[in-house]
Amino acid sequence: MENIDVIIIGGGPAGLAAAIEAKKAGVDNLLILERDSDLGGILNQCIHNGFGLHTFQEELTGPEYAGRFIKELKALQIPYKLNTMVIEIKDKIVTAVSRQEGYVEYKAKAIILAMGCRERPRGALNIPGFRPAGIYSAGTAQRLVNIEGFMPGREVVILGSGDIGLIMARRMTLEGAKVKLVAELMPYSGGLKRNIVQCLDDYGIPLKLSHTVTGIDGKDRLRGVFISRVDEARKPIAGTEEYISCDTLLLSVGLIPENELSQDMGVEIEPLTSGPVVNESLETSQEGIYACGNVLHVHDLVDYVSEEAGHAGRSAAQYVKNGRPETAGKDIPLIPSDGIRYTVPRTVNADRMEETAVIRMRTDGVYKNCYLNVYFGADRVIHKKRMVMTPGEMEEITLKKQDLKAAAGLDRIIFRVEEQ
Ligand SMILES: Cc1cc2nc3c(=O)[nH]c(=O)nc-3n(C[C@H](O)[C@H](O)[C@H](O)COP(=O)(O)OP(=O)(O)OC[C@H]3O[C@@H](n4cnc5c(N)ncnc54)[C@H](O)[C@@H]3O)c2cc1C
Repeated sequence: MENIDVIIIGGGPAGLAAAIEAKKAGVDNLLILERDSDLGGILNQCIHNGFGLHTFQEELTGPEYAGRFIKELKALQIPYKLNTMVIEIKDKIVTAVSRQEGYVEYKAKAIILAMGCRERPRGALNIPGFRPAGIYSAGTAQRLVNIEGFMPGREVVILGSGDIGLIMARRMTLEGAKVKLVAELMPYSGGLKRNIVQCLDDYGIPLKLSHTVTGIDGKDRLRGVFISRVDEARKPIAGTEEYISCDTLLLSVGLIPENELSQDMGVEIEPLTSGPVVNESLETSQEGIYACGNVLHVHDLVDYVSEEAGHAGRSAAQYVKNGRPETAGKDIPLIPSDGIRYTVPRTVNADRMEETAVIRMRTDGVYKNCYLNVYFGADRVIHKKRMVMTPGEMEEITLKKQDLKAAAGLDRIIFRVEEQ
């Protein structure tokens, strides 16, 4: 069994950035394991632009963005194995099956989980009707069109207004299909504002908020769908049903972090994000095991994935070189409250953190003309004006080590959406 200092599971943007930062922080004996035949993760099928505005101040396509990190990875001579799927992690022994080498095992000092996420399938929705051809998840359709070179259909309805659904509305239109509408269960879109403008408004594609698909018509091939308005409890309202003929239904109804490996090894999972609970170093409930990217929580922009993953890489490198630091201070819980649904990380420790800690969060609804406030106990210490906050756009707050150190006896940090 080969001994490796840091093993990174997944060669998407998170795994690439984590490996690069771990190497720069002084770890030479590291390895990326990737189940696909290429590095780059989901970015390889995202051929639209809009990536990298924060990191490179340029608008890149997904493959271009991944390409920059792959180039750096190769320049740093970081080893990776493709077609290698990790099937188990136990006591830091990583077991994988590889097309080239068969069954392989590695003993790691630290592990970075960077397995990304997958799409919620139709089975999770309980839409009545047969199972005709023509119903795809939006990401599968994206892969068919952009990588395999197939058109899934000509007349399209999209259920769910998350970013993948919005991007695919534009993509299918550009390939000559008629996208009849996007139906969204919630009274607001789950995607970025810029995607609503650039992918729907610019092409005249209607977005029907508070609507869902209530029936499927067609036995061999989809012939149409029934859509209905829903009430505040998200239940279809009788008498509002309308029939839309179409041969294709794309589902963009949520992403689920790929945490089967994490759960099997006993890592604590946060129910609100479906990702591991982590501290300020992005360390999970198990010592020396770190998580970053979409496996930790679903991100809106890949730039934040890369930044977060770089932090996980540095933390893993520190752990390998110096062990887990002794701390005098305690882990301070971060408490999401009044409109904030969750925070990542869930605790911070001033003794362990870098000079700053970025806290990422999402709201539980749409808030306009409000403030994102942070309290150290009862004292308000951060007060940020926001014109609008929506669950589709991630928020972030930076905490400074010096402020935490100065706040003697601090036992909780609370995050709130408030009117003032
Ligand atoms: C359709 C779509 C459009 C998007 N548009 C934008 C955009 O315009 N701008 C933007 O900034 N972001 C966009 N994003 C978001 C961005 O692509 C993601 O945030 C980013 O790819 C997440 O990176 P990741 O490394 O965490 O996950 P992934 O990219 O999913 O990579 C995870 C990797 O782990 C591998 N893996 C999983 N399990 C195992 C295992 N057991 N063993 C070995 N390998 C494994 C997978 O094969 C994969 O390569 C978009 C995403 C999608 C899906």
